[in-house]
Amino acid sequence: MKSLTYLDGEWHEGNPSVLGPATLATWLGAVIFDGARAFEGVAPDLDLHCQRAVVSAEKMGMKSPISAAEIEKLALEGIKKFPADTALYIKPLMWAEDGWIYPDPETTRFMLHIFDAPLPEPKGFSAHISSRRRPAPDQAPTDAKAACLYPNAGRALREAAEAGFDNAVMLDPVGNVAEFATANIFMAKDGVVKTPVPNGTFLNGITRQRVIKLLREDGVTVEETSVTPADLRAADEIWSTGNHAKVMPVTRFEDREMQPGPIATKSRELYWAYAKSGVPV
Ligand code: PMP
Repeated sequence: MKSLTYLDGEWHEGNPSVLGPATLATWLGAVIFDGARAFEGVAPDLDLHCQRAVVSAEKMGMKSPISAAEIEKLALEGIKKFPADTALYIKPLMWAEDGWIYPDPETTRFMLHIFDAPLPEPKGFSAHISSRRRPAPDQAPTDAKAACLYPNAGRALREAAEAGFDNAVMLDPVGNVAEFATANIFMAKDGVVKTPVPNGTFLNGITRQRVIKLLREDGVTVEETSVTPADLRAADEIWSTGNHAKVMPVTRFEDREMQPGPIATKSRELYWAYAKSGVPV
């Protein structure tokens, strides 16, 4: 895997060391990141991912030392260092050097990690309902894409793997469906799309918002509403959205085999058409 990191004014190959034992990020996880993609000559919604990185830093009590526009410019510079058409993962990261339990915002640092990461084949995946839940906004910094939220996603994914599933549906604290471990969730029943209404317990993903808009523009009814585990069990189709794999159908939910359905397929096609209409990078 080729990997480049912009850090302190220079591009580095490999995995440069940045954390010491006294760094607040090492000790207490004062880290935020974002994840965008470049593939097939485009980088859809790169600007939104860069903006979210800056907002995530603020929500974690850090202060971004760089503007969203500057992050985007660096990302475009980095993309060009890879062979054309390589599928890339673009990961801005910020962390706090100092602080006592909470960050000293003036010590926020930035780096941009870009590495090649092929887009997964859209062959679908299996999922069950996790015993791990998403925390409420008063229990964890759910308004930031904070690294400290991901050990819980990791616990859910490990539990899913041990039970023979690829992914996990995580419920919110009151037992409604929130999202997959690291992606948003959609379902369709009788031609109507449902996706959990943002309630602060899950990331209101950039791909999610884009797919909702594209489906609505295409005349599909999309309801942002409470979704229960029973709704999922009765769904005609279930699919995920997220920067990493974009739009992916569920092909087994618990013990039920499912085929990729027409609305999941349409969501993927609409997203691809949108992505390909973007400015070439
Ligand atoms: N939820 C979580 C927890 C995620 O990590 C991601 C991936 N960023 C998503 C949802 C999807 O968000 P996006 O479409 O912005 O990538």
